Amino acid sequence: MRKWLCKFLSPKSESKDSDKEVILESLEEGVISLNKESEIIFANYMASKMVAIPKRELNGKKLEALGEGLLFKKLNALLVECLKRETILTDSFSKDKIYYDLIAVPQREKKGAILILQDKSAHHKVMEVGKDFITNASHELKTPITIIKGFAETLQDMPELPREMVVEITNKIVKSCQRMDQLVKNLLTLADLENLPAVRFQECDLIALFESCQDFLLTAHPSARIAIEKKRSPIMVHADPDILELALLNLLENGVKYSSSPAEITVTIEEAGGKVKIAIRDKGIGIPQESLEHIFTRFYTVDKARSRRLGGAGLGLSIVKTIIEKHQGEISVTSQLGSGSTFWITLPSV
Ligand code: ADP
Repeated sequence: MRKWLCKFLSPKSESKDSDKEVILESLEEGVISLNKESEIIFANYMASKMVAIPKRELNGKKLEALGEGLLFKKLNALLVECLKRETILTDSFSKDKIYYDLIAVPQREKKGAILILQDKSAHHKVMEVGKDFITNASHELKTPITIIKGFAETLQDMPELPREMVVEITNKIVKSCQRMDQLVKNLLTLADLENLPAVRFQECDLIALFESCQDFLLTAHPSARIAIEKKRSPIMVHADPDILELALLNLLENGVKYSSSPAEITVTIEEAGGKVKIAIRDKGIGIPQESLEHIFTRFYTVDKARSRRLGGAGLGLSIVKTIIEKHQGEISVTSQLGSGSTFWITLPSV
């Protein structure tokens, strides 16, 4: 971008001045052109926005006259150095979650320079989120890895252990492997969800999806009672059936996990006004009021020790929310501590 900009701004450029201005005004980068006296001769809309000074107040001014802030200091220092060394120089500026890349390009013929400001705040935000995600994931993986390593070393160092102890230890290793497996699957699903291809979406029957989840869950938790209440069948939605089933399964499984046995879950499905409304009710332990606004956040758990024991890591509901939103739907929760929780989902009907 820098090269063409310099060529474009050079006196030899064939573009008309009015064309140049239209293009410069539409750039995502801030562009400030300075003459050999280091006075601003042009600043585009984005530059004026990024330095937070109206365009008319920029023209004819020197950078040091614009203000005392760090941004102006950095821009001025970069300009002085660029003019002195007659070479392209870069720097960066950050303050309160704002990140700018700063570039100074000398204009040899005019003896001036161009300053370019690139807003990298969104890029940094994504990097921060990614960093959090990796930190949390490695934190979550640390415990099962430590457990597996510890027990495996015990087996290695003490081959003569009594049979029942070996069984106990290998059970713990298998459980930790299962937990890791589940965690990695959830992490991968979340990463994949961002690139869900549109071709996977099709008309599918919500009742059939719930029945398939019900079958699967009853195999894993035979004592659970899962009732599906509906006024009619089928109820069609436009969905990626595999992914939507994963969301419903996560919610039903939570209902079982956070209830004392036998878990009682009721699913109600209604269709009205172009929308399908689903309620998944359990009679479990409930969720404290102060946690309700956080439970869809990645890695949030009400009781970390309890979730770990149950093989959870606070990822399930964040996956559910992302999936529902990918289907243009909404999800919310109401709960009464000690009496149970209800997860409410609205999806557009077909
Ligand atoms: P986890 O893998 O820990 O279950 P989730 O993202 O599925 O993670 O849920 C986040 C937290 O919300 C859980 O740790 C649990 O405390 C709470 N929670 C989720 N569903 C229920 C439920 N049906 N009843 C009670 N608490 C729930």
